[in-house]
Amino acid sequence: MSWQRLTWSLLFVCALFAGSAGVLRAQIKQGPPPFGIPSPPPLVGDTSGLAREAQDWLVDLVKINTTNPPGNEQAAANYIAGILTREGINPEILDVAPGRSAVVARLQRNAVAEPAKALLLVAHMDVVGVERSKWSVDPFGGIIKDGYLYGRGSIDDKGMLAANLAAFLALKRSSVRLNRDVIFLATTDEEQFGDASLKTLIAKYWDKFAAGYAINEGGQVVVKDGKVQHVAVQADEKVPVNVVVIAKGTAGHASIPTKDNPVVHLATAISKISAYTAPVHLTSITRRYFEGLSTLEDEDIGKWMRVVDTPDRGEHAQRVLSDSNPLWNSMMRDSIAPTMLQAGVRENVIPSEARAYLNIRLLPGDTVSTLLDELTKIVDDPLVHFEIDADGGLAAPNSSLETDFYATITKVCAREFGGAPVLPFMSTWATDSAQLRLHSVQAYGLGPFPLTEEDEHRVHGDDERLPLASFATGVDLVTRIVAEFCVLK
Ligand SMILES: [Zn+2]
Repeated sequence: MSWQRLTWSLLFVCALFAGSAGVLRAQIKQGPPPFGIPSPPPLVGDTSGLAREAQDWLVDLVKINTTNPPGNEQAAANYIAGILTREGINPEILDVAPGRSAVVARLQRNAVAEPAKALLLVAHMDVVGVERSKWSVDPFGGIIKDGYLYGRGSIDDKGMLAANLAAFLALKRSSVRLNRDVIFLATTDEEQFGDASLKTLIAKYWDKFAAGYAINEGGQVVVKDGKVQHVAVQADEKVPVNVVVIAKGTAGHASIPTKDNPVVHLATAISKISAYTAPVHLTSITRRYFEGLSTLEDEDIGKWMRVVDTPDRGEHAQRVLSDSNPLWNSMMRDSIAPTMLQAGVRENVIPSEARAYLNIRLLPGDTVSTLLDELTKIVDDPLVHFEIDADGGLAAPNSSLETDFYATITKVCAREFGGAPVLPFMSTWATDSAQLRLHSVQAYGLGPFPLTEEDEHRVHGDDERLPLASFATGVDLVTRIVAEFCVLK
């Protein structure tokens, strides 16, 4: 060990004894290095103390029940505002609807705002509901068991919320000079995309958080066979649209069955719709995703991934990939999932109407009207028609893979996970990033916590849980990405 490195090590050891806040201050703060020392230590040192602090915030946030509907995010917003205020930051509560407020805070580079350069750290405070009887623990108890934090929202999205907050406070505590504004935003109503969602926040308060870049949820750190297989950074997403299938007939006594019974017509229509597969369309991001994944999957699958877009073997490859993984299937085509059925009032009454609800996910660029024209032909029944829910998602352009920020994310992720490939990704699920991309924000989706498929499946399901070690990794990752991109070097 050279004497220079020894000096830095001693500084580091001193910092460790200064308490967790002091550790970060000592490590992020970059004083001029003593003369003759060519390379300073990394911008961010040990973040384990920060992660322990953030874990306490996360437990508290899980205990604040923000099930949407109704959301009640105001309590979570006040809790976060309290933390920010204690750190000497002036947060602002943004009221969206009764009982529903977002919270925003800013670390300013200098007096002149440059929104196009600013980085937004965004996460939502609301969570989806629970089927209480299926949970082994209280979903809002903040229970820690066997190295996991159990709770609704522990992953989606309070984990990210706490990680963003940690990264934001680490910057503030370090008093580093920034090269851009960094904005923290905790949002409402993401899970329902309703009247209190980011759309409304943008309409009412855009200048409070306008930014050129954003980190949001939406990506994944995929753990396979006990190690990180790859990191997926979301740069695009499918567009959700809800459609109702309505069959109409004549109401009557069930003892005299009729040919226009809407229950029968609806069931036949749904069966035909379910047998339909939309044509494959590979976006440039999905192509790059398969290309990157092809070296990581087993040889047979990898081989098909490499030829998925070729004229001669593409069609067969697409079929193999579709059959072997429902996620890949949905990434290649418009998808249709019937989710709810509604008909009848009594066992002995033929109803006059039956309804089925389809949740459709369109590839960017596809339109629901084209798809419904096709479905109308396939169903081929004058008693059945479709109605489009006007509150569908909006198609947004994808985020560029050529920005400095995407390069920073890729570099830091690869470093964090021992060189694991970092792949661009179009999610089949929707996030608030579409709203941001429509406002020219280069938004990227992380899932900063390494998760197995099994834990990933608990999101929106039963016994959602976050491995605490993964949480600490996520805090570290987000802090390093933010520092790398925003600290003046
Ligand atoms: Zn979410």
